[in-house]
Amino acid sequence: MTHLHTPRRQTSHLLAPLLILLTCWTAGVSAGTTDDAVKRIVADNSGQLIASFKQFHQNPELGFQEFETAATIAAHFEKLGYPVTTGVGGTGVVSVFENGPGPVVLFRGDMDALPVEELVDISYKSSKITEDLAGESVPVMHACGHDSHAAWLMGIATVMMELKDQWSGTLVLVAQPAEELMSGAQAMLNDTLFDIVPKPDYIIAGHQMPFWPVGSVAVANGYRMAGAIQMDVVINGNGGHGSIPHLAIDPVVMGSQAVMGYQTIVSRLVDQSKPAVLTVGAFQAGFTHNVIPHSATLMLNLRWYDPSVREGMVDGIKQLTDNIARMYGVPADRMPTYTIKSEVTPVFNDQDLTVLATTAMKNVLGDDRVFLAGKPHMGSEDFHMLAARNPEAKVLMVEVGSGPADVLADIAAGTPPVYPHNPAFYMEPDAVLYGAQALSAVLLDVLQKEQVQ
Ligand SMILES: [Zn+2]
Ligand SMILES: [Zn+2]
Repeated sequence: MTHLHTPRRQTSHLLAPLLILLTCWTAGVSAGTTDDAVKRIVADNSGQLIASFKQFHQNPELGFQEFETAATIAAHFEKLGYPVTTGVGGTGVVSVFENGPGPVVLFRGDMDALPVEELVDISYKSSKITEDLAGESVPVMHACGHDSHAAWLMGIATVMMELKDQWSGTLVLVAQPAEELMSGAQAMLNDTLFDIVPKPDYIIAGHQMPFWPVGSVAVANGYRMAGAIQMDVVINGNGGHGSIPHLAIDPVVMGSQAVMGYQTIVSRLVDQSKPAVLTVGAFQAGFTHNVIPHSATLMLNLRWYDPSVREGMVDGIKQLTDNIARMYGVPADRMPTYTIKSEVTPVFNDQDLTVLATTAMKNVLGDDRVFLAGKPHMGSEDFHMLAARNPEAKVLMVEVGSGPADVLADIAAGTPPVYPHNPAFYMEPDAVLYGAQALSAVLLDVLQKEQVQ
């Protein structure tokens, strides 16, 4: 490998400040053939990795039901010689591989699919129908690409075991359930995760991203993904005959006023320089025409970056809903109730780790294949919640390009598809290979042995 010796970085002006940092960082990294070895190992295993990806895609499993996916990953880990614990937080798979002194680095791949009916015409299309956790029959599809995350987790396991003489520390590999439910990481924490895993110093994950070309990755430091809350608000009324509303207390009317009132929380109570989203995803009340129901349930989704925005929204929801209830004469012992079903904090990419990862990924993919990721978005993740035992752990989320040519052309034309979570979602399978290469390179650099330049 020669490119560490030849300064031939081609980069946009956007990356210039980063380059100064990178130059400092690379001074401490010894040149070698590790990157070539990573590429060779991934190439040697490419047939199996692509086959696993397609197998996962054709047999998708919803959150907390990832039984076959977890079994495939666990069997792969075991075959390689990793210690394996299964059934953590339901279907989670955990391997803790102690390989000498050094940091504890946790790498997470998620496994779950979505209740979406696939409309893509490919040989490994999913036509699966399954029962969700509520017992409803639903179609299932990997419409967020977690099939690729499960597959590159297997590739990374292979690379790290084959190159175990070239790194030192403790590698924790986690196949996580139920990311889409925002509760899989928490389920692992509530279960035995920390009986198995030492305190992590680094928490790293990747997510496929069709807006970057396959073969590339993107990363940036600082806030990347929003914090999120799923909240149930139950508004109690007093049900009765539809003809005598003046004797009842109508939760449908109170709920309707609440939904419209919530729109003013974001526009009037939250600092307008800070992003906030408040969506009412469901409004459930009543069963028939002539009965005023006894209660209404609103299902809310909140997104934020700044904790003051979170507080402002949560407090605003309570104040507004409580006061609507008072206005209609709801008695004090039947005031609205507020239940946070799940919560994740924003994802914040550590600056030093981002710099290290940028260099590591450039070394393995090429300088022109590593982009500076764009502005943060209001999507969310829960992998970083696995740092619960060490709030100081350095976190990194890498975007792995999976973009097919037609999607990239649509983006260039200003008409991007509504990806992911869409029935027409398609990603290039080779993203599995580049994801395995890039993320292995990051792990190897974080876990590098003390080396002499
Ligand atoms: Zn998703
Ligand atoms: Zn996802």
